[in-house]
Amino acid sequence: MDNALVCESSPVLNRASAFSYTCRACGRCCHNKRIQANPYEILRLARNRSLSTGEFIQIFLEVNGPYLRIRDDGACFFLADSRCAVHPDRPLACRTYPLGRWVDGRGRETFRELKSAPQREGVRGQTGTVDAFLDEQGAHPHMDAANRYQAIFYRIFEALQRIIRNDADLPEETRDTVAAGGPGRRPDIMKWLDVDGMVSAACQNRNTSVPVEMDQLVTLHIASVEELAIPPKGEEP
Ligand code: SF4
Repeated sequence: MDNALVCESSPVLNRASAFSYTCRACGRCCHNKRIQANPYEILRLARNRSLSTGEFIQIFLEVNGPYLRIRDDGACFFLADSRCAVHPDRPLACRTYPLGRWVDGRGRETFRELKSAPQREGVRGQTGTVDAFLDEQGAHPHMDAANRYQAIFYRIFEALQRIIRNDADLPEETRDTVAAGGPGRRPDIMKWLDVDGMVSAACQNRNTSVPVEMDQLVTLHIASVEELAIPPKGEEP
């Protein structure tokens, strides 16, 4: 979460903190935002649109990162007549708004209120708790998935550091994937976001059938990314 978006007067909150929010469905919060989607969220959104994750990434994500595309007027691609066209499968950032969520490297979670969108009609209050608000928004499965993928993010970051150090022990496929961005070393993470693509390749290699359940797909996807990002045991630098 970008700290520049935080409301400066907001205290640091936890799940027990007093908080409530009444959405007026004005749609203004769905403008001029970079809405990030992790692989679990991409999978849900892809299924919502009856697409594979590879197709969804091509059509609905920005080319330079895991962000939902926005239209020329700044509106999210999924905003239709002030309503979210993918509401049951919207990403975590949309569910927690107007709260931002942070989890540090030790798993400590905090929340803060974000700045209001111009002319936003939603009403903030203190009649409930952060946790009750998250529950109403169906945020818990998304937070669980975000936690699982955050651990992988740190490992990908380690792989990047090893490339920068020119570590000879790093598997060639990892090096090619992470370094595919060229001189700027922008990681080719889009390939790693493609749950269907990575899981079907893994299942083909193992001669097993591709699961249909999301939890199983995510578990296999995480295992596949780990295999790419982390050298086999005994080859750690
Ligand atoms: S996914 Fe839905 S809720 Fe989220 S920004 Fe887009 S239209 Fe708004």
